[in-house]
Amino acid sequence: MMYDVIIIGSGPAGLSAAVYAQRACLKCVIAEKLHRGTGQISEGGKVDNYPGIYGVSGFELGEKFRSHAESLGAEFYEGEAVSITPLKDMYKVSFSDGNAFDTRTIIYAAGTSRRRLGVPGEAEFTGKGVSYCAVCDGAFYKNKTVAVIGGGDTALGDAEILSSIAEKVYLIHRRSEFRAGAALQKRVSKLSNVEFLMNSTVSKISGEGKVRSLTVSYNAAERVLPVDGVFVAVGSSPNSGLLKGIAELDSSGYVIAGEDGKTTAKGIFAAGDVRVKNLRQVVTAAADGANCADSAERYIFENK
Ligand code: NAP
Repeated sequence: MMYDVIIIGSGPAGLSAAVYAQRACLKCVIAEKLHRGTGQISEGGKVDNYPGIYGVSGFELGEKFRSHAESLGAEFYEGEAVSITPLKDMYKVSFSDGNAFDTRTIIYAAGTSRRRLGVPGEAEFTGKGVSYCAVCDGAFYKNKTVAVIGGGDTALGDAEILSSIAEKVYLIHRRSEFRAGAALQKRVSKLSNVEFLMNSTVSKISGEGKVRSLTVSYNAAERVLPVDGVFVAVGSSPNSGLLKGIAELDSSGYVIAGEDGKTTAKGIFAAGDVRVKNLRQVVTAAADGANCADSAERYIFENK
């Protein structure tokens, strides 16, 4: 089976690429790791910065992207891509189920994965009070006490979501300033049940069978906070492993590519959060997808 484009990843970047590839009549398939996955957006809270579509949940927006691609006849393949093999003028993409497809081009939109905090107790209590997704697990903490760790958009967004469920939310950040956008900071600062612990680091998560407390260091003094849940939101790392040795990555592992998505590997284009860029948002991911589909179409035409 030979495709014009294999899109790896079914988040906003991959789904936007699929819309443009379908409209360009390219023979295309979207490889998705999870059944009907739409990427990290499905775990996000309310989206209010995607032009024209606002006040919807991340899950709903992801479903809209997906149904748009489906309405144009996009083909999906449920399977984890495990390797990319460069062949003459094409690539072979192999999947964990043993299948492999040939393709002229690849749009690589594999996104990022949540980083671990790396403190004692984190691994032991993952799924037992330690979570990386407030939208998925927040409901378990009705009227309870939780902590969110981090200072970016994800952490403050998580604190906002959890404040409407839990009785008390500690927002623990290692610096005196947040990295999150100003509008979000302003909203969270007004929430009466969110307490900010700035210049503070978590050194341990403790419990018995499930989380009961965490230890926070501030100015060399330690404090034990009784909590029922810990939401870790300390950033993400790029899912770029498949491109190692094929396309150039930066020192943090993001795929080096410009707005046209062109990587250093001919016929491979990078879209979305996995690409080097300043602003990782749904709107920039969707724009990347469109640009990559356009670049793939041009590449195929020029290399006929
Ligand atoms: P991020 O912006 O990289 O922020 C990670 C936060 O975790 C930073 O505040 C960082 O502290 C802290 N941190 C990192 N390692 C830590 C450690 N070992 N211990 C304690 N704290 C640690 O990650 P993100 O919030 O997941 O966002 C990722 C990208 O997605 C960003 O570009 C963001 O804008 C975007 N995003 C956008 C939205 C939205 O617009 N609605 C929502 C979610 C994410 P320092 O500040 O000290 O480095």
